[in-house]
Amino acid sequence: MDETMLDGNAVAGLLQDLFVVDMTLAMAMCAGCGTPSPIGATHVYRGAGYVLRCPYCKQAMMTLVEGDQGVMVGFPGIRMLQMPVAAS
Ligand SMILES: [Zn+2]
Repeated sequence: MDETMLDGNAVAGLLQDLFVVDMTLAMAMCAGCGTPSPIGATHVYRGAGYVLRCPYCKQAMMTLVEGDQGVMVGFPGIRMLQMPVAAS
């Protein structure tokens, strides 16, 4: 394991600011290998921003870059995202 790598829970606060629901609980299906996993279980690499990678095949699933104008979110490797729904 790379020492710059964390798990998806490392970006929980940033994701909470962007999405109303707890995104670490959202299930993301990898576009590379097709395996679903919670965002909280992805492998997060820090650099100019964050790259969330599939824990199984290392496909870049989501990118987050904080800037002056907001946060740029990319989904280069998520085939489908199942969002948790708050109970009503
Ligand atoms: Zn994968």
